[in-house]
Amino acid sequence: MPQGSCLCGKLTYSYDDAVMKCICHCLTCRKLTGSTYATALLMPEDSLKTNANPPLVTNAAHQVGMKMQFHGCDSCPSTLYKTAAGFPGVKIVFAGTLDGKDDIATEGKPGGELWVKYRVPWLKPLEGCQQFEEFPPPN
Ligand SMILES: [Zn+2]
Ligand SMILES: [Zn+2]
Repeated sequence: MPQGSCLCGKLTYSYDDAVMKCICHCLTCRKLTGSTYATALLMPEDSLKTNANPPLVTNAAHQVGMKMQFHGCDSCPSTLYKTAAGFPGVKIVFAGTLDGKDDIATEGKPGGELWVKYRVPWLKPLEGCQQFEEFPPPN
């Protein structure tokens, strides 16, 4: 079972299964992570088990206006996951919080890239990743 934690180790989690693994290049993920893209693991909310409810919940809006909440530690800067109005019943875990080189290698490997229209010009599309200009179309 993949496991992860925040930077200080106060919050830990594990989960059964991620239904979608993706890199997101949107401008919101850029600002929120402080990096040029986010690597995200989407899973049904019941799949994620945490040792405690993340005490710090921050509201924000996606660039398209969708309301989102960020769930993180109150003792360190880590955000473990986000929830979003457009993804009901889903928790979106930030893959960088996975522990261990095996989990990040296997579980953290994305199958798709979202918002590629904002991909930084020095980064190539990942081989084998589905490419989406924005969010994937609903199925
Ligand atoms: Zn922490
Ligand atoms: Zn994004």
